Amino acid sequence: GKAVTAQDIDLLLSSEAGKDVKGVFITHNETSTGVYSDLKSIGEVCQKHNVLYLVDAVSSLVAIDCKTDLWGIDVVITASQKALMTPPGLCFFSVSKKGWEYNQEAKCPRYYWDLANALKSLKKPTPENPYTPAVTLLFGLNEALNMIKQEGLENVFKRHLQLSKMFRTGVEALGLELMVKDEKIASPAVTSIMIPEGIEAGKITGFFRNNGIVIAGGQGQLKGRIIRVGHLGYVDAFDISNTLITLGRAFKSQGKALNTEAALNKAWEVYEHE
Ligand SMILES: *Cc1c(COP(=O)(O)O)cnc(C)c1O
Repeated sequence: GKAVTAQDIDLLLSSEAGKDVKGVFITHNETSTGVYSDLKSIGEVCQKHNVLYLVDAVSSLVAIDCKTDLWGIDVVITASQKALMTPPGLCFFSVSKKGWEYNQEAKCPRYYWDLANALKSLKKPTPENPYTPAVTLLFGLNEALNMIKQEGLENVFKRHLQLSKMFRTGVEALGLELMVKDEKIASPAVTSIMIPEGIEAGKITGFFRNNGIVIAGGQGQLKGRIIRVGHLGYVDAFDISNTLITLGRAFKSQGKALNTEAALNKAWEVYEHE
């Protein structure tokens, strides 16, 4: 439930252990906990130590701002299936000049995922993919991008932040505990909720599934300890409201009463004022 800070990375890169480090990999939005990292300040540290800066923005791009060049990010990777609202199967990279220099020197074996090969095809008079792309997905992506353009990217960021604040407020008013306490690092894309003693997380996610809403459990050591609610992409305030109501019903089915009325009142109040 805590974020890695620029100072953490600065300390590590300044230490003996950081001497041979070539690059820093970071997950912008940590989907397994609901924490997001401050890419800008970490970028400054990477530039100071002259290391390659690579960002997994799979669950954040379009939901949370990512100013690639301005923040000195060398490689950003994302995929179609999260905030880009498209079925899985497409992957997107941006590579800086420095990134391409590293690519030229890299010796790891590769063929299908050879970015240099992709660049060569991209630079043809009629840009191509090196291999057959999943064209059906590109039609879906085109529609998703039109929707994003119509709403306006800045408005899309704002909506994600507003809905996450609405949901976090509602969850606390229900009487449940948020995993990420600090609002400054709380993900605008996904919220993790602690499961109280005596409640089985699987029963809660199962109740949701039976009621037409899919939420996730925890992964690894968080399995059974948290549930996770994604609120990215094609999501609005009614989805948040319905999820709060369903949380109340799911816990009630397990013998734990939550304050749904207070949660809805407070959540909608936040929605109207944010
Ligand atoms: C979803 C996701 C991925 C991609 O996961 P796959 O399901 O393996 O495609 C990568 N990173 C983050 C942070 C994600 O949320």
